Amino acid sequence: MENKKSKARIFNLQKYNTYDGPGVRTIVFFKGCKMRCKWCSNPEGVESKYAVMYMQNMCKHCGNCVPVCPVGIHVMDNGTHKVMRNIDCLGCRNCQNVCLQTAIAIFGENKSIPDMLAQISKDRIFYDLSGGGVTLSGGEVSLQETAATALLSACKQEGINTAIETCGYGELSSLLSLAQFTDLFLYDIKLMDSQKHFLYTGVNNEVILENFKELMGRKYPICVRVPLIKGINDCTDNISKMVDFLLPFKRQENFKGVNLLPYHKMSVSKYAALGRVYELKDGDYSMTEQRLLEIEQILNSNGLNASIIRH
Ligand code: SF4
Ligand code: SF4
Repeated sequence: MENKKSKARIFNLQKYNTYDGPGVRTIVFFKGCKMRCKWCSNPEGVESKYAVMYMQNMCKHCGNCVPVCPVGIHVMDNGTHKVMRNIDCLGCRNCQNVCLQTAIAIFGENKSIPDMLAQISKDRIFYDLSGGGVTLSGGEVSLQETAATALLSACKQEGINTAIETCGYGELSSLLSLAQFTDLFLYDIKLMDSQKHFLYTGVNNEVILENFKELMGRKYPICVRVPLIKGINDCTDNISKMVDFLLPFKRQENFKGVNLLPYHKMSVSKYAALGRVYELKDGDYSMTEQRLLEIEQILNSNGLNASIIRH
């Protein structure tokens, strides 16, 4: 019988990415995360369970999806299609397959390591030419420690460069397991004030900062990633606390600088399609170019090797 843990539950396998690690990369998005950042751009990935995305504006209310759902998630109410969000999806994809309007997309599939490795290996030539490889992202990859470690190990055996993108909120033992086969950590640090961190992400930041110190101390290569959201974490107080936290590491060979990731609204429409509320819908959270450059300059004047990553 196949070991369930040898499969990963992922929600996307994205090719030709040039933002999340060096060179051209394949990104494998693992499902599930314990944090609930209000600006999350992958809301379809935060729950471990399957996510039903329903694009109401594309639906013709034909009712094709209703009889094929074994658990009754799709219903017709006076000629209007509705999604019952209180029922867990089984991931069978019957509804997605019968919808001629492509109004339904199911997120989440269980993939074996050889399956993923085969897909990743197809772009070998691009990795070799660009210095790229594979990045495991999410969600939070460390929540699926066994499968993720197996995939990283398999990639390393094939000579493929590996990176993981982590929110740092997980068991240190899981991160260390992944670290054995990881060439680069892309490690999120969002807010230095723990109460504010809790307010905007749903968890305190002590575990994240401690895990960061542990990984740095063990000499694993780490690039810090800071999503910048106007009015939430771009203030001088947060930036100077971040500088203070990072300064002791700046001369370590395994400190690989800071990526600044300006807030964007590209994923807002996903929230409504998932039946969720986008809490940052009111207000302007986009960074001005001037403030972005100022923050980059503050970090660089402290020798922290910062750069802005623009999508
Ligand atoms: S994937 Fe299957 S269980 Fe999930 S909503 Fe569609 S038909 Fe129902
Ligand atoms: S099959 Fe597609 S178009 Fe028809 S009711 Fe379902 S979601 Fe709407």
